[in-house]
Amino acid sequence: MDDIPGRVIRARSGFYDVQRGDLVLRCTLRGRIKREQRSEIGRRIYADPVAVGDEVNFTRLDDEEGVIEKLLPRRTKLSRQYPGRREAIEQVVVANADQVIVVISTRLPDLNLRFLDRFLILAENGAMGAVICLNKMDLIHSKEIQIVTSFFSAYQSLGYEVIYTSVKGCPGVGDIRRVMKGKFSAIVGASGVGKSSLLNAIQPGLGLRVADVGLKTEKGRHTTTLVELLSLDFGGEVADTPGIREVGLWGVDTENVELYFREMEPYLGHCKYNDCAHIGEPGCAVIEAVSLGRISQVRHRSYIALRVGTDESEFATNELRLWKSR
Ligand code: GDP
Ligand code: ZN
Repeated sequence: MDDIPGRVIRARSGFYDVQRGDLVLRCTLRGRIKREQRSEIGRRIYADPVAVGDEVNFTRLDDEEGVIEKLLPRRTKLSRQYPGRREAIEQVVVANADQVIVVISTRLPDLNLRFLDRFLILAENGAMGAVICLNKMDLIHSKEIQIVTSFFSAYQSLGYEVIYTSVKGCPGVGDIRRVMKGKFSAIVGASGVGKSSLLNAIQPGLGLRVADVGLKTEKGRHTTTLVELLSLDFGGEVADTPGIREVGLWGVDTENVELYFREMEPYLGHCKYNDCAHIGEPGCAVIEAVSLGRISQVRHRSYIALRVGTDESEFATNELRLWKSR
């Protein structure tokens, strides 16, 4: 049986579980797809040419195995720059998802708006919607809650839904279910933010992902960690991703990163200098908007960090200081 349409529900370097109805086959890739992942000069251009969520055509070899023959065009993709490599290669984390749910936490680990802003850019670039989930709300006090909600009103006014959650007592979990219902979501978060706990609160057992980080293949190479597509009892699907440490922007020109900050759009082209970078130049319309409170200071700082490539950890520390000094 040739060229059966199916969907990749699990991927780990070289092996892909492809589903069609009740049938799930462990598949490898036909050589020509592997060759397509190399540029003309033979360099790798993808970390992996096939991602969870991809629609493919496959050949069935027996009851358990098959071969992916063809990769169908993607409607959306969540791509980042593959970490730990000097050359730029693309890693498609999830294909064809409708939206990405970005989970961050108030504390433990500390609030990381850089992580959030980077994912919002990747979502926009990949033609996906984004929902913001701020978890561990139980770890902050009422005064801090006020500060946090004012931080996040900037994102709400950009059109993003912000859901405040806590696994303790479960507020917000119903809202996560509501935004997930009937959709294919990708859920991302740094390790420890509570992504697995949230998934389990949404549906018992959902967050019990196989922890196979750092397994070695026969070649002695680290396998990519497992991304898995799970179906939701209340309708919809979610691709669970392993804790992400680095969010390298892929396909985004940092010289033009202002184009990904929706709130800056009305001011672009109104600066004194044509090549204004909106960092500290005189006559900058963006900076004026920041000083008038029309653009959030936090978002502008985030923009600068992306534009000039500020060391992320230093940036996060400064942000925390700013937060604590309130
Ligand atoms: P993941 O790495 O993002 O999947 O995070 P886990 O779900 O494994 O959670 C990491 C730790 O944070 C665990 O000790 C959880 O019990 C704890 N945790 C998760 N959600 C919350 C929350 O809303 N509030 C508090 N206080 N702790 C949480
Ligand atoms: Zn400017």
